[in-house]
Amino acid sequence: MKIHEYQSKRIFEKYGVPIPSGGVAVSAKEAYNIATDLGGKVIVKSQVLVGGRGKAGGVKLANTPEEAEKHASDILGMDIKGLTVRKVLIDEASNIANEIYLGITNDREKKMPVMMVSAEGGVEIEEVARVTPEKIIKVHINPLLGLQGYQMRDIAASIELPRKNWKEFGVIASGLWKAYNGSDATLAEINPLIITAEETLLAVDGKMLIDDSALFRQKDIAEMRDLDLETESEIVARENDLAYIQLDGEIGCMVNGAGLAMTTMDIVTLFGGTAANFLDIGGGANAEKVSAAFRIILSDPNVKVVLINIFGGITRGDEVAKGILEAIEEVKPEVPMVVRLVGTNAEEGRALLADADMITAETLAEAAQKAVAVATKTVATAKEA
Ligand code: GDP
Ligand code: MN
Repeated sequence: MKIHEYQSKRIFEKYGVPIPSGGVAVSAKEAYNIATDLGGKVIVKSQVLVGGRGKAGGVKLANTPEEAEKHASDILGMDIKGLTVRKVLIDEASNIANEIYLGITNDREKKMPVMMVSAEGGVEIEEVARVTPEKIIKVHINPLLGLQGYQMRDIAASIELPRKNWKEFGVIASGLWKAYNGSDATLAEINPLIITAEETLLAVDGKMLIDDSALFRQKDIAEMRDLDLETESEIVARENDLAYIQLDGEIGCMVNGAGLAMTTMDIVTLFGGTAANFLDIGGGANAEKVSAAFRIILSDPNVKVVLINIFGGITRGDEVAKGILEAIEEVKPEVPMVVRLVGTNAEEGRALLADADMITAETLAEAAQKAVAVATKTVATAKEA
């Protein structure tokens, strides 16, 4: 789960990372009031869940509350990389002398969290990693021991941080580690961590990604979810406990089990098709869940055919069939459907679906080939095949 900059920074602050004073506004008037309270220059920042807001015109400096109001009114409602800005953060502006990148993520190869630091902060780190990878310093953190003092000093020395800022840096680096670890994050990033003209350190930007599987024990963070910024499909999927990831292919896949869902996507690819999504309806899905899954798949305009691949174990074939029929009744889909149904109560399921206008298949390979044929229209009609 992504959370906003202002939310990430509040979490960082709880762990001792210094952040600018500020407040969140949903209207220009509110922005004016916050800027007045802060006094002096402020920075008006769009709160959308993408990077590169600065370049997109979503971060603006204001010298007066009137200017803050004007910027807020320009930025609110603005479109940044397909997302509409609904909130702005008004932060006390800082005088920046230097921008540092400081982040933690998981290194899957090393099976450990890794702290990444670069003296070339402010810009997108992916860009630095691509062009000048040697400018990123990586230090692995043993999760049982935590970030060690010598590691922080090593990092500070490597980026040639002035000696007088080392102590502050230690507090920030260890605070970021504790925030990452304590929030079950998969990313915690400060970009930039600035050295101010007054020669102190301050986190002016913040970004966190939280492991969805840990949200059950991160109640405070789970509540930060911003429904405004989720697509309708994502909301329906979450409410129905479905694992759904939209992709950009043409074959909508409805499968039970994550492994089988991935296999299905692989086989679709093998036969020259493209998957429109990953969707795992889970074990023991009932008609209601299946119907929700179906509606989600069909709401994607790229979907040219739906491939239903159910291996009945705990999940019962007849329940799946009922769900499909319910959904068809409701949605009245115009795209063809290919069904492969085997396992528990598959017979009953197939009998239920017999009257529905569907293409059936015995094996996964056959189902995938038929779906690809329909999607690419290389075969006149897949039904005849
Ligand atoms: P991002 O573009 O989405 O990563 O947003 P950031 O919060 O990182 O802001 C982009 C850039 O705006 C930063 O790298 C800074 O150069 C600049 N910026 C952010 N806050 C301040 C500030 O308080 N004062 C000044 N002068 N510049 C700032
Ligand atoms: Mn940034």
